[in-house]
Order: sequence, then structure tokens, then C-alpha cells
Amino acid sequence: MRVIFLGAPGAGKGTQAVRLAEMLKIAHLSTGDMLRAAVAAQTPVGLKAKAVMDRGDLVSDEIVLGIIADRIEEADAKNGFILDGFPRTVAQAEGLDTLLQQRGMKLDGVVEFDVDEAKLVGRIVKRAEETAARGEPVRKDDNPDVFKTRLAAYHAQTAPLSAYYADKGVLKSVDGMQAIDEVTASVRKILGC
Ligand code: AMP
Repeated sequence: MRVIFLGAPGAGKGTQAVRLAEMLKIAHLSTGDMLRAAVAAQTPVGLKAKAVMDRGDLVSDEIVLGIIADRIEEADAKNGFILDGFPRTVAQAEGLDTLLQQRGMKLDGVVEFDVDEAKLVGRIVKRAEETAARGEPVRKDDNPDVFKTRLAAYHAQTAPLSAYYADKGVLKSVDGMQAIDEVTASVRKILGC
């Protein structure tokens, strides 16, 4: 199973990807997580990405495509994967098509999480509070100001991917405002897994 989770920041893609990847024994590939790890490790990619991420803009297509090209070759991704937060631009989607084609791989579906955008800031703030309460480091970009930029980037650069995948006949939608368990059930139903 190879799927993409598409949706605005705070739509619940990460939460659902963790659950489904565990259930299906496939890899959860979050470019956001990989970039945050690169920032923490101060790798050359991390050093380039940090300021861009902190202000809520998108890291270059070249960087994320490079990360994904390497990552899908790893052993845990051979069984399949969920792409969470990638692709985020049409250029990334086209790059992914090429990567998959070169490897003889096919996408099984693209799941779009439909959400009420007015409620997303509240979700992000809650996520930051819960993270802090667990004593874990809070994401610098999980605050209302940066969130505005992230949402704007989503509208300008990522939202066109719905049409891109709808044209290919692989786009499926779920109501991302349901309770977490219900979203999981909806995702499993539309993917048939
Ligand atoms: P996320 O954890 O998916 O919300 O991503 C956090 C941040 O990492 C984003 O706001 C971007 O700055 C960067 N990022 C993650 N994935 C991508 C991507 N596919 N393309 C460009 N930037 C990305």
C-alpha cells in the first residue's frame, strides 16, 4: 500500500498516518519530521531549512525530493508507505511520479482530509499545549502567527494538488473533523484496508 495524505496543516494527517502505518506495517514518511530531525542534527539540509520552517514557508522542492528519493529506498518502506506532508507543490508531485515510475511503483490512493479551517488554529494551539505538558519540545511553527503563513502556503502551493490527483482519478476525501477513531475508520474504508 502506497498512499499520500493531503490536507491543511493541523488537519490530522500525522495522527492518522501514525495509526495506519502501525496497523498496516508500512512506513510513515513525514517530510516535516525528517526536516525537523535534520534541523536538530544540524546537517547541511537542516541548516538550510531551519529559517524557512520557522517562518512557515516551504523548503525547496529540490531538498524534499532528495530526502524522499533516499527514504523510499530504505528497507522499512519496501512494504509500502504513507506520505504525510509530501508532496506539497505540483513540482514535488511530478517529481514523485518520476521517482515512482523509475522504481516500478504505483500509488494506491491519495486521501484528502477535509477540515473546517476556522478550527485549525485552535487545534495547533492545543497540540503545542499538550506537547509542552508532556515535557517535550514544542514546534516553533505551532503558534497562531506562523500558522497563518503555513495556511497561506498551503492555499497557494499545496491546494492545487487536489485537482492534480483528481485528474488522475486517485483522489479520495474524508471528513477530517470527525473524532480521531472515526477518521481512522473512514480512511480504512475508502482505502479498503
Ligand atoms: P509539517 O510537519 O508537515 O507541518 O511540516 C513542517 C514544515 O516543514 C513546513 O511548514 C515546511 O516548512 C517544511 N516542510 C515539510 N514538508 C515539506 C514539503 N513537502 N515541502 C516543503 N516544505 C516542507
